[in-house]
Amino acid sequence: MLKEIIEESQINYKTEDLENLRKEILKNKDNIEGMWGLGIRTLGDRLSLDYVKEIISQIMDSYEAAKSSFPEHIIDMVKKITGGRETKSLIKEKNQNSPDKVLEKKAKSSGISKSILKAVYSKGLAAWKGGHRPGVPQHQWAMGRVNSFITGKGGARKAGAYICGEETALIESLEGNRGNPRLKPPFPAVQGLWQNPTVVNNVETISAVPWIVNNSGADYAGIGIGRSTGTKLISASGNIKNQGVYEIELGLSVYEFMNSDEYCGGMQTDRPLKALVPGGSSVPILPANLIYKTAAGEDRLMTYESLSDGGFATGSMLGSGGFIVYDDRACIVRNTWNFSRFYHHESCGQCTPCREGTGWLEKVLWRIENGQGREEDIELLWSIQSKIEGNTICPLGDAASWPVAAAIRHFRDEFEYHIRFPEKVKNRDHFVNEPFEKVKHLITKQPV
Ligand code: SF4
Repeated sequence: MLKEIIEESQINYKTEDLENLRKEILKNKDNIEGMWGLGIRTLGDRLSLDYVKEIISQIMDSYEAAKSSFPEHIIDMVKKITGGRETKSLIKEKNQNSPDKVLEKKAKSSGISKSILKAVYSKGLAAWKGGHRPGVPQHQWAMGRVNSFITGKGGARKAGAYICGEETALIESLEGNRGNPRLKPPFPAVQGLWQNPTVVNNVETISAVPWIVNNSGADYAGIGIGRSTGTKLISASGNIKNQGVYEIELGLSVYEFMNSDEYCGGMQTDRPLKALVPGGSSVPILPANLIYKTAAGEDRLMTYESLSDGGFATGSMLGSGGFIVYDDRACIVRNTWNFSRFYHHESCGQCTPCREGTGWLEKVLWRIENGQGREEDIELLWSIQSKIEGNTICPLGDAASWPVAAAIRHFRDEFEYHIRFPEKVKNRDHFVNEPFEKVKHLITKQPV
């Protein structure tokens, strides 16, 4: 940025001046502090005139700040070369190239609001001191952060990463930082985006607003049963006829949702139903006998209360509405491994139980699934998941634990089968032709 400004300004560098300055900089390289000194010492004789121009632009940016890095006589040389003109005045003169104007152009072309880009830029300016690279002026570095923010590149976990569904991670991402969840309190309603009170709503909530505005809040609240009022978006997948996203009125029975042609349309083939994940990969899986009826024998409904009836012992959660149906060819161990692999990949790594535990779960599940399980592995999985749950900054830790715990709780015999009969499971097609129900009699009553 500064380079462009300088190039477009009226300053005509004389090669001789630049050469003299280069020599002086090299002569004093051991007295130049910070990252500039490091960069210059690393480059040595390879220090180019372009690099010298960058140094000039840095010094022009703020003579006062430059004094802490460069010997005073070098600053004087720069003043002489540039006629004492500071960048601030150049920016004023060249208003069309000011950061403000550049950000305005970037906002127009990217479709991202200018105030957000401006905030990323300001944060970049502030962060430059500790994080700049040698040879990159402050403004240029900050603008680089804006570019990374727009393109989503730069190694940061930004919107789009699973963890950015967590509100404080999303806020961090919007601020141009790595999308790491924050410790709470303070909650976003008190201190959120740019430390201001912030309300974060998900798209599903906002999608209900037009209907409520056109009708009324009371009408919307009239839909549903008990405390589960209104509608819910359910993303149905797995071994059903009609996969898709459905907006349902809460209170519908699970049976009707699964089997009516208006929604899932029943099982894809004539294979029997084996299991259901009703609310996304993080919620406990339900075995067939707990899907249509609760443990108390009541109809299971698509409501928050009914799906969680019985707690985690016999219930689950409506969660995000990620409704996954499994027929008897599914391998619960493989499915659980796949979920664990996902959470391990998505962990932001801030909390030790989540960072280490998710990887450990994945590893142990992988070896069980691939015929290399050990007798103690089921207890080991139970122990790992119990040490993650409730011990992390954000709910991703719980999300990684619950599916493992539920799979062991309801399908322990399937884990035992994998460990006892490694030859039968080492090829990934187990249960496809010979469902688990047909081979489970091989397991003796003696637990592993
Ligand atoms: S629980 Fe996992 S994803 Fe959440 S903050 Fe901790 S390490 Fe990051």
